[in-house]
Amino acid sequence: NSDLILYVNLELVNTKSGRRYVIKEMLGQGTFGQVAKCWDAETNSYLAVKVIKNQPAFYQQAIMEVSLLSMLNEKFDPDDQHHIVRMLDFFLYQNHLCIAFEMLGHNLYELLKRNSLRGLQLKYVRTFSRQILDALVVMKDAGIIHCDLKPENILITPNVKTAAGVKVIDFGSACLEGKTIYSYIQSRYYRSPEVLLGYPYTTAIDMWSFGCIVAELYIGLPLFPGASEYDVLCRMIEILGGQPPDNLLREAKNTGRFFQQVGSIYPGIEVQNGPISAYRILTEEEIEARESKKPKVGRWYFPRGRLDKLIYTYPWKNLNGENLPETENTDCLALVDFLRGLVEFDPNKRWSP
Ligand code: ADP
Ligand code: MG
Repeated sequence: NSDLILYVNLELVNTKSGRRYVIKEMLGQGTFGQVAKCWDAETNSYLAVKVIKNQPAFYQQAIMEVSLLSMLNEKFDPDDQHHIVRMLDFFLYQNHLCIAFEMLGHNLYELLKRNSLRGLQLKYVRTFSRQILDALVVMKDAGIIHCDLKPENILITPNVKTAAGVKVIDFGSACLEGKTIYSYIQSRYYRSPEVLLGYPYTTAIDMWSFGCIVAELYIGLPLFPGASEYDVLCRMIEILGGQPPDNLLREAKNTGRFFQQVGSIYPGIEVQNGPISAYRILTEEEIEARESKKPKVGRWYFPRGRLDKLIYTYPWKNLNGENLPETENTDCLALVDFLRGLVEFDPNKRWSP
């Protein structure tokens, strides 16, 4: 299937420069291709090489990854201070595009799993959030939308003697603001309302995903783990305590997939969401009747309720019977306030990095 067969001790050679990368271990596999941990004898160091499938669509997107990441690295972050993965090389090997990155550690989803999905201490949530935000500032300045921000695409920086750190990886779905091509982007749990609803999108979609990630780092479980787009939207409405504002619903392309218009739309007058909205979200039965199949509605595997309740009465944190330290409880108020700025339906009101 258009994947190169990779195995330990295979040498990936950049035939132009003569540099050789010896495969030591396989790190991951995805739709794009494979990632291998390699040894570079010239620099005496490990690096991660992404070997892209030799199909035009994957190749094109990988070329985009190379060009956007080299722009970010060289022009916007020359001194490697902003928590964005470094690209070290790229080349064609047996007709497969290969991209070499600095070797990083586990991703944040793996970290949460190791912690039995109970979430991280607030001090780590704070450190990681600050670092991801630092990367998002640079990306916004560069006009780059990541389009796939999620815990799997944030890696721990290994073995630095200093404090814990993370870096943003995987610009394989990224695009330039104002040159958005695709409408089906972002991983479902982290998909922003404007992408769900089909409304023009900007770097603000990464801030939505970022908010979902921050909540997940603290809670240990995804904030909107919907089994379908409809399910994700229902969870947003429940957790945020209201539906997307009418101005968004009025202009979005996919509103009719999830909502029924029940009131008149007065042009120029902003109708607030809530009972006087001109739109009503469809019931499960209505979705079922339309699609002639049961809507995918996931089981809630963490307590339902509003965002504030989820954050500061979170039972996972107290499983061993201890109460949260008082400082942590006070900080929870600040965390909820922070999250409200990020998981804000209206992209124009959502906080920028
Ligand atoms: P995809 O587009 O398939 O998601 P990624 O670039 O995210 O590709 O890489 C897939 C996985 O490979 C990552 O989730 C991570 O586990 C691993 N990986 C990618 N880059 C690195 C790296 N620089 N260091 C260590 N592991 C990496
Ligand atoms: Mg990825």
